Amino acid sequence: MATKSVLMDRVFAAIDAATDEMVDFTCELIRVPTVNPPGDAYEECAHVIGRRLAACGFAVEYLAAEGRAEHTITHPRINVIGLRQGATARPLVHLNGHFDVVPAGAGWTVDPFGGRVKDGRIYGRGACDMKAGITAAIYAAEAIRRAGITLVGSIEISGTVDEESGGFAGMAWLAQQGRLSADKTDAVIITEPTNTDRVYVGHRGVYWFEVTTRGRIAHGCMPFLGVSAIEHMGVILDHLRRDLMPTLRARTTAMPVQPDGARHATLNINGIAGGQPIDGIQTPCVADICRAIFDRRFLVEEGFDATRAEIVTLLERAARETPDLLFELRDLMVVHPVRTPDGATVMAALDRAAQHVLGRSLRIAASPGTYDHKHVDRIAGVPNCVAYGPGILDLAHQPDEYCNITDLVQSTKILALSVLELTGSL
Ligand SMILES: [Zn+2]
Repeated sequence: MATKSVLMDRVFAAIDAATDEMVDFTCELIRVPTVNPPGDAYEECAHVIGRRLAACGFAVEYLAAEGRAEHTITHPRINVIGLRQGATARPLVHLNGHFDVVPAGAGWTVDPFGGRVKDGRIYGRGACDMKAGITAAIYAAEAIRRAGITLVGSIEISGTVDEESGGFAGMAWLAQQGRLSADKTDAVIITEPTNTDRVYVGHRGVYWFEVTTRGRIAHGCMPFLGVSAIEHMGVILDHLRRDLMPTLRARTTAMPVQPDGARHATLNINGIAGGQPIDGIQTPCVADICRAIFDRRFLVEEGFDATRAEIVTLLERAARETPDLLFELRDLMVVHPVRTPDGATVMAALDRAAQHVLGRSLRIAASPGTYDHKHVDRIAGVPNCVAYGPGILDLAHQPDEYCNITDLVQSTKILALSVLELTGSL
């Protein structure tokens, strides 16, 4: 029987030999413009992934997100899952990638959906976030097969929709259907771009809320006869800036969130609208309504209940101190923070693989924003989950997004070794 290092060398040789295939497949994925919103070309992309999985020996299923409102005839939400069973069903390692991409936006010097290679880089919208990651997952599994290694446990690979808009018809839906669950899934690696040498162990929490202030309409030439909802929103913004923002900046999480600025609690004002629409015809009126939407990112140490209570207290104080200030608070979205538990086998396996391939340990980081990890942890109940994959995170959602071919190859090797270890095959 071949020794462990001979087997690993065979896998690496298979990945090196497949480099052109991997680049071509990533380009093929980029050429399918799976822009979200609205969720274009999902069915086509699911089939491109499904056909490749089938060619690599996977049993493939297409899963339409029935029951979700965003799954429509014009924009069907189709997920794809491939399973390659080893000698035993367990342990089962699930590799996931979302295939939706954000809109191209302005400022590109190449065709965002051309799928072109230049100077060792694959260019295009989704190159790093995260079509290269899907390629890495498939070819990590395929290299193991080409190396002639019989898996002990099983590999499952999914391509899912809508991560960029919350993942509700994608990973969340698969978890709700029991397609991803603690009963059958032992480890999950989401192959999001993590700069090849980092592993992401979770993210902060999200609380989106809407505040509405209500005033009283009056003639604009006698504003003292009315109550301006816009001025009252201004009072609330003053309170937020004066009383809350410094407190948030002073709070720091123990989670290794990158960049450092995102180690603190934050608040962003997403949008504000009050009075008459400014593009319309104006009449002299005091604004009787103003609405603003806020994005509060909270730390695992803060928790959601305290985060919300702090906002309520602040709004109530503003109302108490200001005559006629009436407000309503509406919760729009809550995502709880997640963190991979210490000692998770998936982290240990990736780290050992990185030491072998890169000659050093992976840096442990947490994400400033959320990704599908939350659904794996909270709905599927699989805490043994991290994000690891090719591509530079900072290039995600930017013009001229690219992925280095060398990153793609190295990440694929690290994923392949990790899968071998996690399935008990090495
Ligand atoms: Zn992504």
